[in-house]
Amino acid sequence: MRESTDTRHRALAGQIACCTACPLAAGRTTVVVGSGPVPAPLLVVGEGPGAQEDATGRPFVGRAGQLLDRLLVAAGMPRERVAVSNVVKCRPPGNRPPTRAEVVTCRGWLAAQILLIDPEVIVTLGGTATGWALGRGLRLADVRGRPHLVEGRSILPTYHPSAALRGGPQGATVAHLRADLALAVGLLR
Ligand code: SF4
Repeated sequence: MRESTDTRHRALAGQIACCTACPLAAGRTTVVVGSGPVPAPLLVVGEGPGAQEDATGRPFVGRAGQLLDRLLVAAGMPRERVAVSNVVKCRPPGNRPPTRAEVVTCRGWLAAQILLIDPEVIVTLGGTATGWALGRGLRLADVRGRPHLVEGRSILPTYHPSAALRGGPQGATVAHLRADLALAVGLLR
């Protein structure tokens, strides 16, 4: 009998949680596999866990996550209905961006998650996640705010909530992020 999506997801999460394939394994407290329902119509992908995510094992729980939660609610899609993951599952030391080698080594995990989550729309938060989905060398400002069809799914690049926080609550970046998340929800059938 064919395994259910839930069973396969649990098996995949167990495999990811044991991964030591790249140097980030050495400094982590937990492997932040992801959160949310499987399958899900909307997947949000960030760069990698920060300190609070590393401590709790859940993605986007710090200030950036709280901003993301508020903007998802404003877009009509509360966080509990959204799948959330990251390009790398272990915290880079000092919150530095993951190296190219780390991203490549971890790539198969997110690719496998996408097959199980089977989202219609993937929102990529920031340059690392957007590069993962659309290819490196693109300027985020050039590709954000409109969907890009890749393998039958709409990829919607936008700014990372951390960048929106740096710009302040009245800044243009948070306004773009709010509009892009609303667009992503609007794309769902
Ligand atoms: S970041 Fe990815 S590849 Fe590296 S140890 Fe963690 S799960 Fe494995």
